[in-house]
Amino acid sequence: MKTYKIALIKGDGIGPEIIDEAVKVLDAVASCCDIEFSYEEALMGGCAYDITGDPLPQETINISLNSDAVLFGAIGGQKWDSLPREKRPESGLLRFRKELGVYANLRPATVFDELINASSLKPEVVKGVDLMVVRELIGGIYFGEPKGRDENRGWNTMVYTREEIVRIAHQAFKIAMTRSKRVCSIDKANVLDVSQLWREVVTEVAREYPEVELSHMYVDNAAMQLIRDPRQFDVMLTGNIFGDILSDEASMLSGSIGLLPSASVGAKIGVYEPIHGSAPDIAGQGIANPIATILSASMMLRYALGENEAADKIDNAVKRALKDGYRTKDLAQYDAKEVCSTSEMGSIIANYAAK
Ligand code: NAD
Repeated sequence: MKTYKIALIKGDGIGPEIIDEAVKVLDAVASCCDIEFSYEEALMGGCAYDITGDPLPQETINISLNSDAVLFGAIGGQKWDSLPREKRPESGLLRFRKELGVYANLRPATVFDELINASSLKPEVVKGVDLMVVRELIGGIYFGEPKGRDENRGWNTMVYTREEIVRIAHQAFKIAMTRSKRVCSIDKANVLDVSQLWREVVTEVAREYPEVELSHMYVDNAAMQLIRDPRQFDVMLTGNIFGDILSDEASMLSGSIGLLPSASVGAKIGVYEPIHGSAPDIAGQGIANPIATILSASMMLRYALGENEAADKIDNAVKRALKDGYRTKDLAQYDAKEVCSTSEMGSIIANYAAK
């Protein structure tokens, strides 16, 4: 039997509630897939600041680097908003990603048939959408030098090195190999020199993946195509700023923030987390939707641990729970047969996953 070490960072707000449900589901699949998890909890965010004075204690970095993967809830809340910038929970998270060297952000956008009416787009446009945005996370215009401003001018630099493009392109092609084997690389090569290099390097890397079909698209067209016909996409490969915008746009195809998982991966340990925040407005009420976190645990099994069978079991259990009409409060208006609490939803999915 294989044992995996998982660092659990529950964080603030609804973080502890949703991580507890993901753990419940992980333990349910473990028992039927001949694997075992040993969990170690670590503090981050406001709760870490309250106890240690630092939103990212060194111990959290050590525990994470010593694990096979990190399952992360969410951090932040109004209580800590007026702290100096470096003490805020969000600063801890940015520092954490840097410490772990996670350069690729994977964001799937899936539309579940049962929740098709939750999307603001027409059902015939979004039915069957299943795409993955692979976004470069620690380069590009958000980090490029020189940057700055004076009274009359502000400037940032969009820069990518060949090495940075090669590594994110490999991520995208490897993921495409596990999906429908199509990569659409997004750039602005008609205007930007940096995009011309991006396109050239992605095309070179593609030669190592002859089974994957590569296409290129300008970012303005991609933004339009995502709304016009999102089913045309499988893996969308993008730089940092384009991916920031397109992944938020793609997440809205499904219409519910409580359903969408993500992964941030790199050379070391990956971080698996829901795309939503700590939802302080509903924390402690038992009404948060745990599905985004449960699907993040499934991504962890698939991409960090290579446990595809267990990941499939979780994905199918989530689909079945939705098909059978179980809904948390956020989705109660979409064909609910039974509205359940955070913990009830976790138990239902865990039961289905264990079968
Ligand atoms: P949010 O995602 O926490 O909440 C937005 C809205 O969606 C709220 O109405 C909330 O109740 C609802 N919501 C979110 N997750 C839900 C779930 N699982 N089930 C049901 N409803 C859900 O965004 P926000 O309100 O802008 O931010 C709240 C705090 O979270 C802030 O401090 C922010 O900095 C932080 N934040 C953290 C992360 C992270 O930890 N990665 C990401 C985004 C925001």
